Amino acid sequence: MGLNVIMIGPPGAGKGTQALRFARARGLAKISTGDILREAIKAETPVGLKVQATMERGELVDDATMIAIVRERLMRPDAMAGFLLDGFPRTVEQAEALDQIVEERGNGPLVVVDVRVPLQELVRRLDGRLVCSTCGTNADPFGPTIKRCGKCDGEFVQRHDDDRSVVVERLKVYERQTYPLVKYYQERPTFRVVNGAQRPEDVAFQLDTVIDDAAAVGAMEKAES
Ligand code: AMP
Repeated sequence: MGLNVIMIGPPGAGKGTQALRFARARGLAKISTGDILREAIKAETPVGLKVQATMERGELVDDATMIAIVRERLMRPDAMAGFLLDGFPRTVEQAEALDQIVEERGNGPLVVVDVRVPLQELVRRLDGRLVCSTCGTNADPFGPTIKRCGKCDGEFVQRHDDDRSVVVERLKVYERQTYPLVKYYQERPTFRVVNGAQRPEDVAFQLDTVIDDAAAVGAMEKAES
């Protein structure tokens, strides 16, 4: 039986990093819709050209486009043993489509993790987010304050303000369009909440525990039905 996981949470919650670690540790296909779209833009594919302006404004790409991308990706052989989706679904319509795809694949339940971080903490993280001006590496927000990058000795600088206004827009979009997903999922026995305002290793530990627990519950339910 496969392990199928989605993570819901606002931008800045650390989902991307946690998703990568978890997927690697469990041999799951890690699928980030943001990454897929950024690659499409870079390669100037028809989809990339269509979504570029929407993404630059921090708004959501339309559901039909996103559902087609994810359906195609989840049906590829490497995703059949299980997947970890980062950035999808973001709307209830996408969530309904995902339920249908999971049903068609018939391989394991869907585990849903909501990574919660209070708004003040998100703003603090964004305000304090330092990035190397030479190689682009993020400074460790939990580490000691250092002025130079450990990788290339470049100078750490504050991220640009224009980035910040886009991030604020994405936080608003999250509240309006993505948070209703929690309502859609929260009554399910495979839904779990994780506190994302802890040290990354503590978030990772909590994720491991709750995902295994929810998957076991989901497998039991499937067996009974
Ligand atoms: P992310 O890297 O997940 O924060 O996504 C970056 C941007 O890609 C978002 O601000 C949206 O414009 C777009 N995007 C990614 N995933 C989705 C999705 N599931 N639905 C709509 N737009 C998306």
